[in-house]
Amino acid sequence: MQTIRGIPVSEGVIIGRVFLIEDNESLRVPRRSINAPDAPAEIERFEFARRAAIDELNELHATAADEMGKEAAKIFLFHIGAFNDPSILNPIRAMIEGELVTAEYASSAVLALLADKFAQHPDSTFQSKVDDLRDLASRLLRHLGGQKISTITDADEDQTVIVARDLTPSQTAGFDRDKVRGFVTDLGGKTSHTAIVASALGLPAVVGTRTLSKIARDGQSIIVDGSNGVVILDPDDETLDHYLLRVEQVRKARISLHELADLPAVTADGTKITLLGNIEFPEEIDLVLDDGGKGIGLYRTEFLYLTRNTLPTEEDHYQSYKQCVDRLNGLPLTIRTIDLGADKYTQLQSENPERNPFLGLRSIRYCLANLGLFRTQLRAILRASAHGPVRVMFPLVTNISEFRTGKYFLREEMENLDEQGIAYDRDIQVGMMLEVPAAALMANAFAREVDFFSLGTNDLVQYTLAVDRTNEQVASLYTPIHPAVLKLVRDVSRSARRHDIPISSCGASSGDPEFAALLIGLGIRTLSVTASGIPLLKQAIRGLTVEHCERIAKKAISYDSETEAAGYVRDRLRKLVPEVFERRPLD
Ligand code: PEP
Ligand code: MG
Repeated sequence: MQTIRGIPVSEGVIIGRVFLIEDNESLRVPRRSINAPDAPAEIERFEFARRAAIDELNELHATAADEMGKEAAKIFLFHIGAFNDPSILNPIRAMIEGELVTAEYASSAVLALLADKFAQHPDSTFQSKVDDLRDLASRLLRHLGGQKISTITDADEDQTVIVARDLTPSQTAGFDRDKVRGFVTDLGGKTSHTAIVASALGLPAVVGTRTLSKIARDGQSIIVDGSNGVVILDPDDETLDHYLLRVEQVRKARISLHELADLPAVTADGTKITLLGNIEFPEEIDLVLDDGGKGIGLYRTEFLYLTRNTLPTEEDHYQSYKQCVDRLNGLPLTIRTIDLGADKYTQLQSENPERNPFLGLRSIRYCLANLGLFRTQLRAILRASAHGPVRVMFPLVTNISEFRTGKYFLREEMENLDEQGIAYDRDIQVGMMLEVPAAALMANAFAREVDFFSLGTNDLVQYTLAVDRTNEQVASLYTPIHPAVLKLVRDVSRSARRHDIPISSCGASSGDPEFAALLIGLGIRTLSVTASGIPLLKQAIRGLTVEHCERIAKKAISYDSETEAAGYVRDRLRKLVPEVFERRPLD
């Protein structure tokens, strides 16, 4: 038995089997020669592996289309197309025959050369395919090796735990949700994309284990405790019994929490708190509604880009947004314009990778530098607004000029739609994420111009504390309950009140009952969280009064030390709403 600790990012416990996702970088193939008479057989071996890979991709495509819709599944069509493309296949065959090398070497060399060319290409459509070419090489190599391919559709177990060094958003989106039950990665922090997707799916996840993917073996027995950040390989009988009990406790707690879904989210002294959902894909809306959410406070539209190989068209955007509006049936939808960059954009795809991507060309900056892409999205959002209550918000706004410029382009697109006689909501609300300390400090100025604020604590914490949110090595320094962060939240909340504009909070910590109590204490009445977090949050809210929250916030903000502040909040919450913490027994 081996116990490894990491960062807990998505609650729950799973007892399952390891499913290792190999690191593409490790797929280096030595050059091996073959004899001339063996060349035809070697080409036949390549053909056999190629056909097996296509069969597998067809299956993956069908599953993904069922699970996530046609758009998200398109990624596999590109892979299938590539395995039928003579401009890729002929050079591999020619190399086997001409240079008398193994099919493994020829495939990896040709695809690596192509990936390098794509990476250097000035057109971003080519750059965005680099990772896919690497994926193709790894799939082909495993088939050539006659090994079982590491795809989830092949897993016999239905208790599959994905173990990887890191996962790309497209990998995470490609998993069979009927089989995958948990995630563990070596890299990552509390709010990296694996964490966001795992919690959206309600699956336990631990990130930042640093070494697990090097130690774990395929098929090995594994326990993932996503509430405490513990991963156990080959558990002994006693540990297994302990966790079987925990699984049952969590299951029962989830059922009883789910019963809260229809109850109102009001504090014990009668103040209404609006609970909304955060989504990455339109399909998640059903989960949000099922868990009692009253609309969508954050739609992370960049996932439209991350799960496909071509740039989404205006129609692609529009169809996704329209689908959301239809599913919401009159409830509000807050669409955030794309937040590409930082951890949501593979630097490998870029011609000049940034040295500090979190401080680089991301979010609204990226949009204003890529106006075609921005305008396309704005038009689609406007068109969707004709069908139901839609709000639009810009991410990572730092300077007022960015907000004004973003709004200027929105207005221009309104005029274009007018000219074409296309309907949209003329009074569409335009807001901004508050996730940069500079913007938080200037909240009064922004409040005069925006229709609403949404606090993005994931980034606000990272930029205030100078802690990379995806870096496991500094994860212990990443804490939202820090007096400096609380002071910024307090000031932003006051500005919103003074200017009478709505404010909500949509960072991951808004779903943490301790931080949520502070947000309420600091005047925030709308929280937007992942679907699976809504019931627990509702339970906490129903057990607290606004006065409790205000007192706790006042005291927490007065500490000099973040550890003392966090310790104080933890103690108070455990006394006031012990039932919320009952299902998270410490090991
Ligand atoms: C945030 O920063 O808090 C946020 C909600 O945005 P994202 O996690 O997508 O950066
Ligand atoms: Mg953010």
